[in-house]
Amino acid sequence: MFQSKLFTKTRREAPKDEVAKNADLLIRAGYIHKEMAGSYSYLPLGKRVLENIERIVRQEMDAIGGQEIRMATLHPSEPWKQTGAWDKVDVVFKINSRTEKEYTVGQSEEEIVTPIAKEYVQSYKDLPVAIYQIGQKYRDELRAKSGIMRGREFTMKDMYSFHETQEDFDLFYATAKDAYLRVYERCGLVAKATEASGGSFTEKLSYEFMVLTDAGEDDILYCDSCSYCANVEITKEAEGDGCTRCPKGKLARAKASEVGNIFDLGTKYPRDFGFTYMNKEGNASTPIMGCFGIGITRLMGVAAEALADEKGIVWPESIAPFRVHILNLSVGDEEADKAARALYDELTAKGVAVLCDDRADVRAGEKFADSDLIGIPHRVVVSKKTISEGKFEYKKRTAGDARMLSTVELLALFN
Ligand SMILES: [Zn+2]
Repeated sequence: MFQSKLFTKTRREAPKDEVAKNADLLIRAGYIHKEMAGSYSYLPLGKRVLENIERIVRQEMDAIGGQEIRMATLHPSEPWKQTGAWDKVDVVFKINSRTEKEYTVGQSEEEIVTPIAKEYVQSYKDLPVAIYQIGQKYRDELRAKSGIMRGREFTMKDMYSFHETQEDFDLFYATAKDAYLRVYERCGLVAKATEASGGSFTEKLSYEFMVLTDAGEDDILYCDSCSYCANVEITKEAEGDGCTRCPKGKLARAKASEVGNIFDLGTKYPRDFGFTYMNKEGNASTPIMGCFGIGITRLMGVAAEALADEKGIVWPESIAPFRVHILNLSVGDEEADKAARALYDELTAKGVAVLCDDRADVRAGEKFADSDLIGIPHRVVVSKKTISEGKFEYKKRTAGDARMLSTVELLALFN
């Protein structure tokens, strides 16, 4: 893509009434547009990041047998009344229609997916099954001050699984936990699975997946030697204590952001909807259900905020909107334009997504500042000077110094 054609522009001044660092960066770089607190539109750059995260999540959910569907967002109130969530869950939006019917918009989808599964699962032979979607969710938050990290509208991957036995559920729970850790790793983030209480969903223990970042709103204790990690809210342990799970570990305290969760829902929702199946003995039995969430837009906000430096965003390669940012500092110079275009075409032919800053009348300093703010992992400068040397000036977003590379050397970085 050519930056002269990109309809969004960067801006230097911080947006008014935006206290969240992730939203501040993403708005200034032109990724998102704020509609109101907790509600944002995703612009071309932002949409590309979301699609990259969604692709990784989709691949990992498909790999553990998840089947993707798309559920309705607008729901009748009846199933929500049937499960008690209509009255008990305070973040449920309640919409009154002119027909005097009441509706809601999904803040989670147990009320929709359970009746769907009930219709198709009749026998133990139909189990286990894991159904997921990637879609919009709505929460009636009193305050929404965390940018895209906690919105009134957000994108989520939510998966629901149904099982014959607790053992089968536990097995899938462990498989899903590993898949989640792979998702975060592929997104360039270090996440830990902590045990937490189940909140409004369930009385049982659940997993929360936490990315260590000073921007986080949770406090966790983690072992410096094994994978043990817990939310301080539910543990009696303290910083400096010895780890109870391994011989030599010590517990450290850190700020973290939640980027996913897994709940054992037991049989609550199947019971609410009278969902039974015929077990091996020929009797009606109630399946055990699990819920597995990953906040997609939240993950984008955490990555933007946790990995940023003083100059702007630093995207991990896997979710960056483009992998290479070509800056043509001599737009209008025939040789420079030709060299920039040729490199653009060669990288594109290799399947590398490239943003080329071909804007005329924009000073070099501004192009460098924009490039740092936007945060594309690899920067390549083309100018009269680099052409006179027959090379390109290459720098990684995370590196301090640039180096001069020939076309062949440059292309070899993307084999
Ligand atoms: Zn330990």
